[in-house]
Amino acid sequence: MTKPLAKDDLEHLKTLAGNNGWIDDVTALGAYLTEWRGLYSGHSDLLLAPDTTKRAAEIIAYCAAKGIGIVPQGGNTGLAGGAIPGLTDGPAEIILSAARLNKIHCIDAANFTLTAGAGCILSDLQEAAAQVERSFPLSLAAEGSCQIGGNLSTNAGGTNVLRFGNTRDLVLGLEVVLPDGRVYANLKALRKDNTGYALQQLFIGAEGTLGFITAVTLKLFPVPRSTATAWLAVASPDNAVVMLGKARQKLGDDLVAFELIPRIAVEMVVDNIPGRRDPLPAPHEWYVLLEIANARDATETESLLTDFLANCMNTNELSDGVVATSEAQRKQFWSVRHDISEAQKLAGASIKHDISVPVSSIPDFLERADKLVNDAVPGIRPVAFGHLGDGNLHYNLSPPEAMSTDEFIALWPELNELVHTLAVELNGSFSAEHGIGLLKVDELERLGNPVSLDLMRGIKQLIDPAGIMNPGKVIKNS
Ligand code: FAD
Repeated sequence: MTKPLAKDDLEHLKTLAGNNGWIDDVTALGAYLTEWRGLYSGHSDLLLAPDTTKRAAEIIAYCAAKGIGIVPQGGNTGLAGGAIPGLTDGPAEIILSAARLNKIHCIDAANFTLTAGAGCILSDLQEAAAQVERSFPLSLAAEGSCQIGGNLSTNAGGTNVLRFGNTRDLVLGLEVVLPDGRVYANLKALRKDNTGYALQQLFIGAEGTLGFITAVTLKLFPVPRSTATAWLAVASPDNAVVMLGKARQKLGDDLVAFELIPRIAVEMVVDNIPGRRDPLPAPHEWYVLLEIANARDATETESLLTDFLANCMNTNELSDGVVATSEAQRKQFWSVRHDISEAQKLAGASIKHDISVPVSSIPDFLERADKLVNDAVPGIRPVAFGHLGDGNLHYNLSPPEAMSTDEFIALWPELNELVHTLAVELNGSFSAEHGIGLLKVDELERLGNPVSLDLMRGIKQLIDPAGIMNPGKVIKNS
């Protein structure tokens, strides 16, 4: 555990954060010390929430001078322990929250850009864009709580990566307070700017280890005129992959989401989340949630989708399916998908994986991973779901019916090792969208490319030589 914060540092930092800009009450701090799924519970004496970049810079400069560790925190929905303080032996750590940097600075509808503070909640940004007839396409189940600064820092993926890319692809400009208190101010709203190294990309996906993001300029997109969504039954992941290839070929950029969902996940949602129901009358082994969106009118879009689905029925990739006939039904389909993590949490213990492999290798991955984990723990229940369109699955494991939570959770490292090694063997990644945080630091050492690791250490040393930004997260010092 980290050391306590000296009393005079604590009091001085509070004055730097200003009125209403700090929490030092043990009970109130509790909400900021535990990771969303309860895997990490940390410690800190102080949370600071500056309301300006200037205040953030003063706080960071003071921490740099005093060697105080800083753990940036957004909505605390991260799944790798990156936002939790006090988990390593070392100097005291404060939580630096972006929550009060939550103003929208400007929306330039003609330039299709939005500039906002890092503490804006993702769904608020989607809403602000919609108000000027624009769309901000980043979308994930935590969008009502996660902040754009957290999305940037984890390079979040979500459900629309297939069409719009990861968060990294949605950023034009960035403002970051560096670990010495200087401000890297680059809130440019340009789509073309070849003036040297793409420095801001370094801070995206850095999980708070290189600086504190205070503001961002984001790309906006046209609001689609119509959307069509289908909940589909497929016999196997093979069929889903074939259907995905056809969908990309036939529907082109209209295809925005292609999610794979197993039967067990639907059962968990229906059993654990009130009001959710199975979209189809009969059970099936696998499902695909497919969505298209475009600038055509609704009738045309719907027939585009139904023609495509009829074709897939004829060639036997598709077993059954239903196309949403209302916005309410579309939301119902998405709720089943978005509630899987929550339902699995309510259903009991689970061991998580966030892997990616080339889309064409997904069936092979699933077959081999299922065998590996079943050989290791007979009766284990894989719940493999997620962004098939991106080759990214959350290969989460639920325990055999009779196994205790403690016994199962103790198997976490062993099962991670099996699954991550397989993903890397298939030219994949052991962390597709949730980052490294604290959870996968050792896995990065084990499976990371040695040259990449050397470069990462060099960059960390250059930007944060004292190692005060999010100590112990992402990369080991030596
Ligand atoms: P936090 O959890 O607070 O922080 C995450 C990391 O970013 C930490 O290392 C923290 O130190 C750093 N950080 C936060 N803010 C800043 C800042 N201003 N400056 C510098 N560093 C900062 N992720 C996906 O990619 N795709 C999904 O589909 C997805 N679905 C999810 C569904 C659920 C139900 C949940 C709970 C999580 C999901 N996540 C998903 C993970 C999580 O929502 C994302 O990682 C999100 O981007 C984290 O944002 P946050 O504001 O909560 O960040």
